Amino acid sequence: MAAGDVLTDDFRATPYWWDLAPRPEDEGVAPPAEAEVAIVGAGNVGLSAALTLARRGRGVVVLDAEAAGHGASTRNAGYLGRQVWYKYGDMVPKLGRERAARVCRAAIDAHDYAASLIEREQIACFYRNTGRFIAAPSKRVFDGLARDLAMMQDDGVPVDAEMVEPEAAPPAYRAGRYHGGQTLRGNGVIHAGLYHAGLLERAARDGARIVGHCPVQAIEREGGAFRVFTARGTVRAGHVIVATNGYTPKAAQWLRRRLVPVDAFMIATEPLAEDRIERIAPGGRPMVEHCYSPCWIRPNEDGTRILFGGLSAEPPAGLARKASFLRDAMVRIVPELEGVRISHCWTGKTAFTFDMLPHTGSHDGVEYAMGWCGSGVPMGTYLGYKTALRVLGDPESGTVFDGRPFPTKPFYTGRPWFLPLAVAWHKRKDRKLFRG
Ligand SMILES: Cc1cc2nc3c(=O)[nH]c(=O)nc-3n(C[C@H](O)[C@H](O)[C@H](O)COP(=O)(O)OP(=O)(O)OC[C@H]3O[C@@H](n4cnc5c(N)ncnc54)[C@H](O)[C@@H]3O)c2cc1C
Repeated sequence: MAAGDVLTDDFRATPYWWDLAPRPEDEGVAPPAEAEVAIVGAGNVGLSAALTLARRGRGVVVLDAEAAGHGASTRNAGYLGRQVWYKYGDMVPKLGRERAARVCRAAIDAHDYAASLIEREQIACFYRNTGRFIAAPSKRVFDGLARDLAMMQDDGVPVDAEMVEPEAAPPAYRAGRYHGGQTLRGNGVIHAGLYHAGLLERAARDGARIVGHCPVQAIEREGGAFRVFTARGTVRAGHVIVATNGYTPKAAQWLRRRLVPVDAFMIATEPLAEDRIERIAPGGRPMVEHCYSPCWIRPNEDGTRILFGGLSAEPPAGLARKASFLRDAMVRIVPELEGVRISHCWTGKTAFTFDMLPHTGSHDGVEYAMGWCGSGVPMGTYLGYKTALRVLGDPESGTVFDGRPFPTKPFYTGRPWFLPLAVAWHKRKDRKLFRG
């Protein structure tokens, strides 16, 4: 198939979100020699922490190896969820019902914190409370979703959801592939680039210094403080927060060994007719498959395009070819998108942990918040804020994630050589789920 049949003439191998929220230019500045707090990583998490600290009058510098927002914070799908990726039925045997319920409540708190931050700060990021449709690959999965929902409700988790029988599912998903699913109310969507840009602007306005293109090369303890070595000079800081998630560098090797970075891919379609988009995502409601290696579909911020994505173990080479591969996957789910051309294809790194939970804490005095397991937009914003509160010694900093060991595996160095095997295993499990 010729590229012109798949890609628009103005195809870009950069995130769709960057069209409205471009990356900031490199101003060539060096970081300050001293700061009360140095934050490594200028994604949503680093900026949420920076905003909290700057508002309380702390001298903050945020250092990023690339332009601020180069990472997943401006590459994600923009789902502002009220739940973690970890399925309740899988979580309960590992954590027990009481703790699993507290994790689910924390996810709701995270959503509510991020949504209220958007409102309070007037961040113009097209936030919409659309709810979310969870597509069940088979009757067995549908029944499992219903069981998990009942168990969560029994355990006092204020989840607002209802099961959707196959005949009531959005028309585009009715024809065979799924057995209905679940509507999760209260979930939102945002324009990922504008959300990050809003946080960046608010943090800088309140005095945080944001220094891009300034990779941190090492972090060393010096008495009760730290020396943070960067490509553009050394910062002496009283506290350090590492917020690098899927991009965690060797300079934070203890953390790197605890994260499994996974490439996720997304495409945007060319502009489509409104009624077509409304058939696919009624009311602008996004969809996610309920399986181990899911795909997701949502309209863009003004309902003129479809955005589609999924996880992959393949290296992110050849985004034009990847666009064609993803378009085929999208058409298998929504046949009426056959022939639609793709205007953007991009990739980003998200990070999973060995216990499938996010982590925040401190190691050798260095604070961290990471391991979002696919739900970092709300959870990262929230735990970035909580991490800042911990630095401030504020008793409100506590979360259900405190004091938990951050597991790794023997000989794991942060390079997930096993990922193709893990993905193959998940795909096998998914084939079984789809068979019912
Ligand atoms: C395609 C895709 C879709 C996703 N969709 C969703 C979604 O819809 N909803 C959701 O909740 N989550 C989603 N996620 C996950 C979510 O985007 C991330 O969990 C979240 O944005 C991570 O934010 P962060 O600030 O922790 O890290 P990032 O935004 O990844 O930022 C880390 C930063 O660290 C910097 N860095 C790395 N090394 C150094 C160094 N040596 N010195 C200084 N800086 C360094 C990087 O340059 C980067 O800017 C998705 C992820 C991807 C990739």
